[in-house]
Amino acid sequence: MSSSCVFCRIVARDQPADIMHVSDNVVAFRDINPQAPTHIQLVPKEHIESAADLEERHAGMLAELVRAAAHLANAEGIADSGWRLVTNVGPEGGQHVYHLHFHLLGGRQMHWPPG
Ligand code: AMP
Ligand code: ZN
Repeated sequence: MSSSCVFCRIVARDQPADIMHVSDNVVAFRDINPQAPTHIQLVPKEHIESAADLEERHAGMLAELVRAAAHLANAEGIADSGWRLVTNVGPEGGQHVYHLHFHLLGGRQMHWPPG
Protein backbone atom coordinates (compact mmCIF):
# COMPACT_ATOMS: atom_id res chain seq x y z
CA MET A 1 0.00 0.00 0.00
CA SER A 2 1.36 3.36 -1.03
CA SER A 3 -0.27 6.46 0.49
CA SER A 4 0.75 8.41 -2.60
CA CYS A 5 -1.38 6.13 -4.80
CA VAL A 6 -5.01 7.19 -5.10
CA PHE A 7 -6.26 3.66 -5.83
CA CYS A 8 -4.30 2.21 -2.87
CA ARG A 9 -6.00 4.82 -0.70
CA ILE A 10 -9.43 3.81 -2.03
CA VAL A 11 -8.62 0.12 -1.41
CA ALA A 12 -7.55 1.00 2.16
CA ARG A 13 -10.75 3.12 2.59
CA ASP A 14 -8.58 6.15 3.28
CA GLN A 15 -10.24 7.96 0.39
CA PRO A 16 -13.96 8.00 -0.36
CA ALA A 17 -15.22 6.13 -3.41
CA ASP A 18 -18.51 4.62 -4.55
CA ILE A 19 -17.43 1.03 -3.97
CA MET A 20 -19.49 -1.51 -5.91
CA HIS A 21 -17.76 -4.78 -5.16
CA VAL A 22 -15.08 -6.20 -2.89
CA SER A 23 -13.68 -9.72 -3.13
CA ASP A 24 -10.51 -11.42 -1.90
CA ASN A 25 -8.14 -9.66 -4.27
CA VAL A 26 -10.23 -7.09 -6.13
CA VAL A 27 -12.10 -3.84 -5.45
CA ALA A 28 -14.47 -2.10 -7.89
CA PHE A 29 -15.75 1.47 -7.65
CA ARG A 30 -17.42 4.03 -9.90
CA ASP A 31 -15.14 6.22 -11.97
CA ILE A 32 -15.09 9.81 -10.72
CA ASN A 33 -15.24 11.17 -14.30
CA PRO A 34 -17.50 8.71 -16.13
CA GLN A 35 -17.11 8.37 -19.90
CA ALA A 36 -20.25 6.24 -20.32
CA PRO A 37 -23.46 5.60 -18.35
CA THR A 38 -21.63 2.71 -16.68
CA HIS A 39 -17.97 3.41 -15.94
CA ILE A 40 -16.49 1.33 -13.15
CA GLN A 41 -12.87 0.80 -12.17
CA LEU A 42 -11.78 -2.71 -11.20
CA VAL A 43 -8.44 -2.82 -9.40
CA PRO A 44 -6.33 -5.41 -7.59
CA LYS A 45 -5.92 -4.76 -3.87
CA GLU A 46 -2.20 -5.24 -4.46
CA HIS A 47 -0.36 -2.25 -5.87
CA ILE A 48 0.74 -3.32 -9.35
CA GLU A 49 1.75 -0.44 -11.63
CA SER A 50 0.24 -1.69 -14.87
CA ALA A 51 -0.55 -4.76 -16.94
CA ALA A 52 3.12 -4.76 -17.93
CA ASP A 53 4.01 -5.80 -14.36
CA LEU A 54 1.71 -8.81 -14.06
CA GLU A 55 3.29 -12.10 -13.03
CA GLU A 56 2.19 -15.72 -13.19
CA ARG A 57 1.04 -15.51 -9.55
CA HIS A 58 -1.55 -12.90 -10.52
CA ALA A 59 -3.53 -15.31 -12.72
CA GLY A 60 -6.15 -16.01 -10.03
CA MET A 61 -6.62 -12.30 -9.27
CA LEU A 62 -7.11 -11.57 -12.98
CA ALA A 63 -9.75 -14.26 -13.34
CA GLU A 64 -11.49 -12.92 -10.22
CA LEU A 65 -11.39 -9.40 -11.68
CA VAL A 66 -12.87 -10.39 -15.05
CA ARG A 67 -15.59 -12.42 -13.36
CA ALA A 68 -16.38 -9.39 -11.14
CA ALA A 69 -16.66 -7.26 -14.30
CA ALA A 70 -19.18 -9.67 -15.80
CA HIS A 71 -21.11 -9.74 -12.51
CA LEU A 72 -21.20 -5.92 -12.37
CA ALA A 73 -22.24 -5.67 -16.03
CA ASN A 74 -25.16 -7.91 -15.14
CA ALA A 75 -26.02 -5.78 -12.10
CA GLU A 76 -25.84 -2.63 -14.23
CA GLY A 77 -28.25 -4.11 -16.78
CA ILE A 78 -25.76 -4.05 -19.66
CA ALA A 79 -25.01 -7.77 -19.92
CA ASP A 80 -27.11 -8.16 -23.06
CA SER A 81 -26.40 -4.81 -24.72
CA GLY A 82 -22.66 -5.33 -24.24
CA TRP A 83 -19.72 -3.70 -22.53
CA ARG A 84 -16.00 -3.06 -22.78
CA LEU A 85 -13.20 -3.94 -20.39
CA VAL A 86 -9.98 -2.04 -21.08
CA THR A 87 -6.67 -1.30 -19.41
CA ASN A 88 -4.29 1.45 -20.49
CA VAL A 89 -0.51 1.03 -20.21
CA GLY A 90 1.97 3.91 -20.17
CA PRO A 91 1.80 7.42 -21.61
CA GLU A 92 0.77 6.56 -25.17
CA GLY A 93 -1.62 3.93 -23.86
CA GLY A 94 -3.39 6.75 -22.02
CA GLN A 95 -2.57 5.61 -18.46
CA HIS A 96 -2.81 8.35 -15.83
CA VAL A 97 -3.09 6.36 -12.60
CA TYR A 98 -0.19 3.95 -12.10
CA HIS A 99 -2.12 1.33 -10.15
CA LEU A 100 -3.42 -1.38 -12.48
CA HIS A 101 -7.09 -0.82 -13.29
CA PHE A 102 -9.58 -2.09 -15.81
CA HIS A 103 -12.28 0.28 -17.04
CA LEU A 104 -15.70 -1.39 -17.32
CA LEU A 105 -17.64 0.74 -19.79
CA GLY A 106 -21.16 0.33 -21.11
CA GLY A 107 -24.62 1.74 -21.51
CA ARG A 108 -23.87 3.36 -24.87
CA GLN A 109 -22.42 2.33 -28.22
CA MET A 110 -18.63 1.95 -27.98
CA HIS A 111 -16.50 2.92 -30.95
CA TRP A 112 -13.50 1.29 -32.61
CA PRO A 113 -10.71 2.25 -32.72
CA PRO A 114 -11.13 3.85 -29.30
CA GLY A 115 -8.95 6.87 -30.23
P1 AMP B 1 -6.32 5.90 -16.81
O1 AMP B 1 -6.33 7.22 -17.55
O2 AMP B 1 -6.53 4.69 -17.69
O3 AMP B 1 -5.11 5.77 -15.92
O4 AMP B 1 -7.61 5.90 -15.89
C1 AMP B 1 -7.65 6.53 -14.66
C2 AMP B 1 -9.10 6.64 -14.30
O5 AMP B 1 -9.21 6.83 -12.91
C3 AMP B 1 -9.83 7.82 -14.95
O6 AMP B 1 -10.95 7.33 -15.67
C4 AMP B 1 -10.22 8.70 -13.78
O7 AMP B 1 -11.45 9.36 -13.97
C5 AMP B 1 -10.28 7.69 -12.65
N1 AMP B 1 -10.06 8.24 -11.32
C6 AMP B 1 -9.05 9.03 -10.90
N2 AMP B 1 -9.17 9.31 -9.59
C7 AMP B 1 -10.29 8.67 -9.18
C8 AMP B 1 -10.97 8.58 -7.93
N3 AMP B 1 -10.51 9.20 -6.82
N4 AMP B 1 -12.10 7.84 -7.85
C9 AMP B 1 -12.57 7.21 -8.96
N5 AMP B 1 -11.97 7.25 -10.16
C10 AMP B 1 -10.85 7.97 -10.27
ZN1 ZN C 1 -1.66 1.65 -5.64
